[in-house]
Amino acid sequence: MRTATLYRFKLPMEAGIILRYQRLKTRDGFLVHLQENGQQGWGEISPLPEFSKETIEQAGQAAETWLKQWRLGAEPDESELPSVAFGISCALAELQGKLPKDANYRKAPLCNGDPDELIVRLSNMSGQKVAKVKVGLYEAVRDGMVVNVLLEAVPDLSLRLDANRSWSRAKADSFAKYVNPDYRNRIAFLEEPCQTPEQSLAFARETGIAIAWDESVRDEGFKVEEQAGVAAVVIKPTLIGSLARCCQLISAAHNAGLEAVISSSIETSFGLTQLARIAHWLTPATIPGLDTLELIQSQLVRRWPGSTMPVTGLDELEISWCS
Ligand SMILES: [Mg+2]
Repeated sequence: MRTATLYRFKLPMEAGIILRYQRLKTRDGFLVHLQENGQQGWGEISPLPEFSKETIEQAGQAAETWLKQWRLGAEPDESELPSVAFGISCALAELQGKLPKDANYRKAPLCNGDPDELIVRLSNMSGQKVAKVKVGLYEAVRDGMVVNVLLEAVPDLSLRLDANRSWSRAKADSFAKYVNPDYRNRIAFLEEPCQTPEQSLAFARETGIAIAWDESVRDEGFKVEEQAGVAAVVIKPTLIGSLARCCQLISAAHNAGLEAVISSSIETSFGLTQLARIAHWLTPATIPGLDTLELIQSQLVRRWPGSTMPVTGLDELEISWCS
């Protein structure tokens, strides 16, 4: 006997969160709940505006279609919509006892511009110190100086940088010029410095600053391979698809000698705790990129350990479908 419920949520975002061309006021999505023979599993389906190709309505319809078939005893193919495939695969994995409970709740703190604030946060961090800095938002020269300041102030720090394909090759070079050559090997990777993967590869080879693929992972025809200057692939399950698909990418990355970094697509605390479990399970040696909890004003059902933010409970959610 199977039952399934789809809950819809809408949580307020912190003011001023802009995704590409759009101000995001609420984080919208679904929680899916599967039950069978006294077992249960949950997942979050939350396509990210401007990044996911599917809309929230399309995700809801696809989830409903899948759930109707599953409810009747079928084992439907995974949805073609990544957010739906991911959320449902998490629910199935919990239901089948395949997703371990242990989690990696360490996260690489994210710096959006103020290095002093990050230095304070890092001083409270124990063990391996890894932080992430968004670059490409200001002058490349300023980015280079911020990176120098951080690496100089915190001698055991390694940095992940993310330029989101925003630089021309010339701009990327002016960034690199300002980074002290002695510090370059403490840049674990710089995600997608240039507008094209070819330019980014050439940049990595010529500057000795390692790069990582993120946007490219979702491009048609992307293949994980060993490439000079490439250190990592960033895996955002909500944008990639089912757990099975993520597992494939992670093992391909590991086989090619690359680090695989599980990262968030601004999921709620519910989705983030699941991503922390997935990271602990599939990428145990790597700190995941999950420092987005505080972009949403409320947690959802499952708390992030140690967070004192309010929690929206299941009883406050609208049931969008159940059977
Ligand atoms: Mg990125």
